[in-house]
Amino acid sequence: MSEQAEIGVIGGSGFYSFLDDVTEITVDTPYGAPSDSLFLGELAGRRVAFLPRHGRKHHLPPHRINYRANMWALRSAGVRQVLGPCAVGGLRQEYGPGTLLIPDQLVDRTKARVQTYFDGEALPDGSVPNVVHLTFADPYCETGRQACLSAAREDGWEAVDGGTLCVVEGPRFSTRAESHWHAAQGWSVVGMTGHPEAALARELGLCYASLTLVTDLDAGAETGEGVSHEEVLRVFGENVGRLRKVLFDAVGKLPAERSCSCSEALGGLDPGIELP
Ligand SMILES: [Zn+2]
Repeated sequence: MSEQAEIGVIGGSGFYSFLDDVTEITVDTPYGAPSDSLFLGELAGRRVAFLPRHGRKHHLPPHRINYRANMWALRSAGVRQVLGPCAVGGLRQEYGPGTLLIPDQLVDRTKARVQTYFDGEALPDGSVPNVVHLTFADPYCETGRQACLSAAREDGWEAVDGGTLCVVEGPRFSTRAESHWHAAQGWSVVGMTGHPEAALARELGLCYASLTLVTDLDAGAETGEGVSHEEVLRVFGENVGRLRKVLFDAVGKLPAERSCSCSEALGGLDPGIELP
């Protein structure tokens, strides 16, 4: 079933479908089932696989998502370039609701997520991954980032170029103290799903870029009651149309032949398992 898609789009909270004319396929992986089926369609001459990160009915909280299965499923369908939009809280006053920020850095503050394929556990086929440590200094594909920035700009939505996405375990939102601390570090936005997606993409040699849509000011940056899930979904819903347009246009800007270094992430290291 390989080569059915080239580009993967992972929909976040409030984003459960992407293209209208799709073929639904179910994919199993050595790590279990992904969040949902893959929805395959064509856009700008490219074959795209959409995967709703939380499931199409939003039944999976961020800490229960099988990130390994999701990224493996995309790659096994042929995907090599991934765009991962997600809803985030702004850690600065100037990053209010409706801000689109394309991060260039990531801080992992999750606590209980498997974030590697190279964990010494045998796969069902008996193969055992080797111990591998990959470079992750720059967690995002710069080509993918530029495609997103340029698409947003052409759509009249001036996105913030760069910044640090802090990923917390959730599912609760941050306390004011945590939020003040995140802001004091100079980090830009805070979310719950950006990690380990990017790290797993790197291990599979995939290009990965994140598009963060600010749905609220985080607890330390606002003065009201704090963040609510209803508010997040409402603001995401208001912006999902233009976010979809940016993604459409970004897909068209991703190069058919990759010249970035993402595919070389393993750099000749033997993973010990066969990547799909
Ligand atoms: Zn790349």
